[in-house]
Amino acid sequence: MKVAVIGAGYVGLVTASCLAELGHEVVCMDRDLRRVELLRAGVVPIYEPGLDSLIQRNAQDQRLFFTTRLADALEGAEVLFIAVGTPPCEDGSADLGHVLAVARQVAALLTRPLVVVNKSTVPVGTAEQVQGVLNAGLAARGLGGLAVTVISNPEFLKEGAAIDDFMRPDRIVIGLPSGPLAERTRAVMTQLYASLNRHHERTVWMDLRSAELTKYAANAMLATRISFMNEMANLADLVGADVDAIRRGIGSDTRIGPSFLYAGTGYGGSCFPKDTRALMKTAQQHGSQMQLVEATERVNQAQRQVLSRRVIEHFGGDLRGLRFAVWGLAFKPQTDDMREAPSRHLIRQLILRGAEVVAHDPVAMDAARAVLADDLADIPDGIARLKLVGDATSVLDGADALLVVTEWKQFHNPDFGLIQESLRQPLIIDGRNLYDPQALQELGIAYQGIGRRNALALRSQAQAARRVPAAPALATA
Ligand code: NAD
Repeated sequence: MKVAVIGAGYVGLVTASCLAELGHEVVCMDRDLRRVELLRAGVVPIYEPGLDSLIQRNAQDQRLFFTTRLADALEGAEVLFIAVGTPPCEDGSADLGHVLAVARQVAALLTRPLVVVNKSTVPVGTAEQVQGVLNAGLAARGLGGLAVTVISNPEFLKEGAAIDDFMRPDRIVIGLPSGPLAERTRAVMTQLYASLNRHHERTVWMDLRSAELTKYAANAMLATRISFMNEMANLADLVGADVDAIRRGIGSDTRIGPSFLYAGTGYGGSCFPKDTRALMKTAQQHGSQMQLVEATERVNQAQRQVLSRRVIEHFGGDLRGLRFAVWGLAFKPQTDDMREAPSRHLIRQLILRGAEVVAHDPVAMDAARAVLADDLADIPDGIARLKLVGDATSVLDGADALLVVTEWKQFHNPDFGLIQESLRQPLIIDGRNLYDPQALQELGIAYQGIGRRNALALRSQAQAARRVPAAPALATA
């Protein structure tokens, strides 16, 4: 089947290359010329495990093409995926500008029947809006009778495991409009995804609006689990319990399950923060309120500060003359995505308070360099006090503490002897609960996790060691 994919970002590239791998002929279009040129040269502009070989193989086999011209993508296509960004507006609602621009451009060029698939995460009613734009554009060209149907097929991939998620999905949600084209559209989508349904039927068919809302419901549910565990962790800290034991204790209950129960530095990334806010906005626009989602978001905002708060509790508010080693910058392992990464908040807070930061991430260094330069641009001398270095051990040299932000596998079993030797004072503040508090205590390394049993004792030690209690004048944001 001939398929067009509009948008060559995380979702567009995974969709395009996986559909090509399934034997379809796919043209992936992006308006970003540089990105398309890189892709044509076999260079993948994002980090996603396995994606580069998938793209290179399918491009070589002439099943996957890249273009900046929409007309090339539309040529012979039966299905067109919209996989462009839906960034947040100022008020938290999803910005549909890119999605509607694609609809207008398609309406101006289309000459044959087409199934238009909304893969971008979009608020309820967007498929109907896109259908309206297409109908109006086609009618203006005298092509009002063309069979064009807009459907919803939200994407549930996880960055870092996106190819596996696409090729072995838990489910494929497809929302169809009612009407005369529904059966034909269903047949087209059944054929498109046939190889993913061979083992058992994974497609969950529903109406358009339910499909659109299902995507937000999934992300809101996962975000809620994370905020719930972060609240539990904060209480565990206060009462001297260990949130990791609690996680295992409740995760083994089949009604609860083990996923998304890790306490940490709060959720980030391109989806959870923006999608929870957009969901709240949708409820408001309908005169309602998502009280649970609002609480989830509030807890997350507070949790983002957990590492900087720990640093301030230990060292005081004036961090001038101190240096912090940071392990991990991407919002999670196996990606270079820095969108809403907790490391950004932490680094800004440390730099604002006068500290020096030396950081390392196994893959996100280039992406981090660009966003952190922006984040620190308003702090005098800010960017000069941040050093991004190419290996995890040299960041430790002479640092006053190691802060673990992203749980890359490389950081799971470090040489604690080396850490102890390299740090000016042996202190690890572990935002991902990677290490055993007891073992580190025995090694003589002060350790703080998130909601670990010994946090109370360490906090009182830390308070005794506190240097300067007052925040300096420059710590204003
Ligand atoms: P992205 O920012 O990585 O990529 C979007 C791409 O679309 C960019 O390359 C941009 O140049 C291109 N684009 C924008 N307007 C265009 C236009 N008019 N014509 C052609 N190309 C255009 O975004 P992403 O992370 O792939 O997300 C895309 C959508 O999928 C969003 O709605 C997002 O919420 C959703 N989503 C993302 C993930 C994820 O993990 N990243 C997971 C599920 C759903």
